[in-house]
Amino acid sequence: MKCLITILILAIIALAALLVYEIRFREYQNPWAQAQAQKESQEAAEAALRAESEKKEQNAADSGVVPLISDEQEDSLESQANRLALQYDYDGAISLLRSQPGYDRNERFKNLVSTYESTKAGCSPYPIDQITHVFFHTLVWDDAKAFDGDEKEAGYNQVMTTVSEFDSIITQMYNRGYVMVSLHDMASVADDGSLSTKEILLPPGKIPFVLSMDDCSYYHYMDGDGFAQKLIVTDDGKVKNTYVEDDGSISVGDYDLVPILDTFVAQHPDFAYHGHKGVLALTGYEGVLGYRTDEVYKTREEGRITMYQNAFFEANPDFDFDKEVADAKAVADAMKAEGWEFASHTWGHINPRQYTIEQVQKDSQRWHDWVVPVVGETDILIFAFGADIGDWQPYTYDNEYYAHYKSMGFNFYCNVDSSVKAWVQIGPDFLRQGRRNLDGYRMYYSPELISDLYDVDTAWDSNRPTPVPKM
Ligand SMILES: [Zn+2]
Repeated sequence: MKCLITILILAIIALAALLVYEIRFREYQNPWAQAQAQKESQEAAEAALRAESEKKEQNAADSGVVPLISDEQEDSLESQANRLALQYDYDGAISLLRSQPGYDRNERFKNLVSTYESTKAGCSPYPIDQITHVFFHTLVWDDAKAFDGDEKEAGYNQVMTTVSEFDSIITQMYNRGYVMVSLHDMASVADDGSLSTKEILLPPGKIPFVLSMDDCSYYHYMDGDGFAQKLIVTDDGKVKNTYVEDDGSISVGDYDLVPILDTFVAQHPDFAYHGHKGVLALTGYEGVLGYRTDEVYKTREEGRITMYQNAFFEANPDFDFDKEVADAKAVADAMKAEGWEFASHTWGHINPRQYTIEQVQKDSQRWHDWVVPVVGETDILIFAFGADIGDWQPYTYDNEYYAHYKSMGFNFYCNVDSSVKAWVQIGPDFLRQGRRNLDGYRMYYSPELISDLYDVDTAWDSNRPTPVPKM
């Protein structure tokens, strides 16, 4: 009996102990189990969300829709990139597309980039010292007025090119693979004034050339002789010419080189390397681009004002100098945005070596004071009369004219040399280039010298009086 009671007590104790253990065990286990369960369900939910968004992205990629760019943006970016590539700016086209959000998942952009890369790989650098340079003056729009037998006809016949000739010349040059480049594509200038050549990469068959236009002033003496009146910016931001018709009304259109080339490049973007067009060599004494922006139009200084300028003031009693400067600056800014550049042709159309260094300094000061505020700074000097400040040997600082012009910030110097296809001289701190005149005189007397550029018989304007007078 005692034994039984002992066993029973032991059993009760064991049961109680088990109960206590069980309770404590549960108390210990439950919070862990709960936390574990919570963590597991949270992870599962996150994984589900991740899977869902990955699936969404995959679906988006599969259907060709990149969520961060709309179809319209993509189309516009593709045409921007294609235009850059058409103008041989492959790096620009590639970086434009690569910088877009979602590029890594955009098969369309990646395919375009690989096309640009392979086109670039097929390009080769053109030798900088073999780049030719051609130039024109203001183009004759109305042959009958320019070639009317007056005392100015001979000059126009010798040094001008007509609009129909220019149209033919650029079309022929384009068809032969010529591509306009800037002097600034040929060399870069370091802060210390030293120059180093750059690389011009072009596909096989493409030939770079520099184009310049001299004396784009629409000088007073040309009034009524069949030339444009001035350059303007139209309401839609385009640069055009005005032309004074016989009845005095003003027409707006492509009457001279600048808008003609703008229109041509709009149709043939691959004629302009990186969108670069020509360089306009400007004098200052009758203003620029058809605007009367020189000092003398402001001061009307007795002794300096010419017969032409007096007649201009009589014909334009409401002339407002400040407005004239502002309008000219608007044209220059619009042209620069379109790929045009400006050069000094000296303020007074001078041959520097026929003047003392003091006179040349005064001329440069006038350029700086009255032309730079309109067209901006330039480091290109295109000599008037095809002159130069030295012979064929490199410029040195003991040439006081070079020392002066270099101190005025000029790094690129152009003379006229039609005897060779290309003449480029690159010194430590300058680049010199010879230019070839594509005018009546050259076409009439030595078409063989320009046969690499175009066929003269095709371009020749039969309205020109012949023979072109000897110089
Ligand atoms: Zn000139």
